[in-house]
Formats: sequence, C-alpha cells, structure tokens
Amino acid sequence: MRDLIERDLRHIWHPCTQMRECEKLPPIPIKEARGVWLYDFEGRAYMDCVSSWWVNLFGHCNAQISAAIKRQLDSLEHVMMAGFSHEPIIRLSERLCALAGFEKCFYADNGSSAVEVALKLSFHYHLHKGKQRGKFLCLENSYHGETLGALSVGGVGLYRDAYKPLLLEVLSTSVPRGEDYSRELEALKILLQRHGEELCAFILEPLVQCAGNMHMYAAGFIDAAVRLCREAGVLVIFDEIATGFGRTGSLFAMEQCEEKPDLLCLSKGITGGFLPLSVVLLGDEIYKAFYGEYEKAFLHSHSYTGNALACAAAGAVLDIFEKEGVVEKNKKLSAFIAQEFEKLRDFDFLGNFRQRGMIYAFDILTEKKRSGLWIYERGLQKKLLLRPLGNTIYFMPPYVITKEEISYVARILRELFEEFEP
Ligand SMILES: *Cc1c(COP(=O)(O)O)cnc(C)c1O
Repeated sequence: MRDLIERDLRHIWHPCTQMRECEKLPPIPIKEARGVWLYDFEGRAYMDCVSSWWVNLFGHCNAQISAAIKRQLDSLEHVMMAGFSHEPIIRLSERLCALAGFEKCFYADNGSSAVEVALKLSFHYHLHKGKQRGKFLCLENSYHGETLGALSVGGVGLYRDAYKPLLLEVLSTSVPRGEDYSRELEALKILLQRHGEELCAFILEPLVQCAGNMHMYAAGFIDAAVRLCREAGVLVIFDEIATGFGRTGSLFAMEQCEEKPDLLCLSKGITGGFLPLSVVLLGDEIYKAFYGEYEKAFLHSHSYTGNALACAAAGAVLDIFEKEGVVEKNKKLSAFIAQEFEKLRDFDFLGNFRQRGMIYAFDILTEKKRSGLWIYERGLQKKLLLRPLGNTIYFMPPYVITKEEISYVARILRELFEEFEP
C-alpha cells in the first residue's frame, strides 16, 4: 500500500486538498467496496458516512446498478446526442419528467455543468423575450459548483475569494437562520424592487445548503421567495444536485415546498454514485423560446452529454426507488439516526443539532479552526469515513446502511468526543 501511495503522490493532484497535508495524511488507496464499506489494500475497512461526496445512494458495487451498466455495455456505450439518441436516455427522460413534473430534459455530465446550463438558459430565455437581464441572484452561503459561472453564484468564501476578479457580477440575498424569516423576506422584497429588472434568475439549494455547512432552512421562505421572483419576472432555479433523490426525506426537496422552480438541476445521486451524469429539467415555456431559426437554438454541449452507460445506471436507480419503497423506508432510518445521535447532545461543546431526512448534522462549538480535521483523523482509525465541513460534523450515509451500522457510528462519535478537548 505504501508503494501505491508513493506512486499516487508522484503524479496525482487531489481535488479540494492542500497537497502538503498529504505528507502527514496521505490519500488512502481503496481496493474494493461493498455496501457502505470501503476496504484498503491492507484489509482495513472504512464506513462511507458521507456517501463518497453525497453521490452514493444504494451502496458501493450495488448489484442492480452494476448489472444494468453491464447489460448496457454490450449494446451501446456512448453516442453523441447531437443528431442521435438512445433508449436509456429516452426512457430516463420520460421517467424524470413524470416524477418531477417537467416537460424537457437537457443533459450534461456533472453538477457544475448543469448549473452552467441553467444559468445560460435563464439569461438567453430573457434575451429571446427581448430583454437583457444580465445578473443572477443567489443566496448567501450557497454552493453551486466550481466552474466560473457556478462559482460566481456561490457564497462560500473559501472556494470563491481567490477568483473574485474573474467572476460574474451577482446579487446575493440573506438565507434565513431561524424559524422566523420575515427579515430575509423583506430584504429580498426591497432587492427585487430595486434590481428586479436586471435579474434573469434566482438560484438556490432548496431546504439544505449542503456545502454551506449543512445549513437547513424553512420551506416557507422558499415558497414566499419564489412567489416574489415570479412577480418580478425572475426565473427560479432549484439546484437539487445534492438534495435530490431522496436525501431530504422526499424524492426531491421541492416536494416539501408548495412552489416549483422553472429549472431543476440534478446530478450526484442520479446514477447511484456509479457514473457522472447531470440534467436540467424545465417546462415547455422556456423550451419554446428557443424554438425556431437555427440562431435561436441553445448551442451548448459537452462531449459526454447523456452517456448511455450513465443513463442505464440512472434507470436502475429509479427502479430501486420504485420497487423498494425507498422514500418510506428512509423515514424509519432517519428517525433511528435521530434517536441514536440524540445521545451526543450531552456534550456541551456540541450544538445546532439538525436533520432533514437522510442528512444529520451538528457543530463543534469552539474557537479552534478545523477541529473537524481531528474527528476525520480519529474517525479513520475507528473505521469511519467522516469528512467534516470546518467545524460541522455531518452524517449522510448511503440508504442501505443498517441500524447496527448507525448505532456503531453514534457510539464511536461518543467515544471520540469523550477524548476531545474543545
Ligand atoms: C456538488 C454540487 C454541485 C457541483 O456538482 P459537481 O458534480 O461537483 O460539479 C453543485 N451544486 C450543489 C448543490 C452541489 O452539492
């Protein structure tokens, strides 16, 4: 294993990593994985408590998804989507539109690209309607990906600050911090009165700002904000790249809101964590604005747009949701998670316990920066892959996790915090 690590570090620059820290804490080569468990080359196990950056829904090497990809592999691996099509993508589009209540699907191959698509579509839609609305509105503390457009509408300074001179000019409005969101709503109202005409779209992550330290906020605010945007002629984009596919307790987070967005971005869990794929769903109203002469078309593409293997995986994911009553089953699992993690409330340096469906989070209340890193290192020694966001510890496991495994995580966390010096 040491040899693999050396070879890794010789040539690989890892994402979202200060490589110098790899001297002390090198990347762990994983040999194989099953369910919630990853295994390294020395046979050590790690429970994937973060679903490998929130993509894995039904466990690693899930047999059904794996079989669907293998079946597809023998007939068609990929064909470009300009001028061509294939069955897995047709079937997937029918199912996604029916499930989410939209008419059209525009595909890409990762979350940030889906966000770029949604932003460009919103701007271009208004242009087709004879208006140049050159700015986007986003929520404070939001995260929409790392490409320059997506980064522009993000509010997490750590990822964004260095690139500020390169970013689009956007407007940002406050996200509610408690149950009462009247102040945030009033601020949005004033912002729309002043700048409504300049804005083409409002982008937000419904219910949970995941990369924004798992900040959870009220559906009521989203509904009221969407209505205000509609009155101002501003399109609404829901980024459900992280919250989609059962994560927040319903298939899509937007089901817990009354209002629907004009554009919906999906990715991450869409293939159960097997292959990259993303999609923007939208209605006929926007689609028709681009329909006509060639010059009116949406001339945007990615090489791997709508990859057939990824679509086959996504089909298998929807099969599992349908056949196994996943959303209902998850309700019991998330209640059990709440019950087990309840015991952590005894530590007075832990607080802000919160949960939406299959996301559970709490904060270490300390001045010390990156105390989450301590939990990460100690967690690994106890078979837990946790990847705290700053001082926020979160649990976002694949849905195939068992009650015993949940209890194990809660017990180990208790042990770790008994040794922790805040
Ligand atoms: C992860 C994420 C993205 C970016 O997706 P990538 O596939 O990493 O580019 C965008 N929005 C949200 C809410 C995300 O969680």
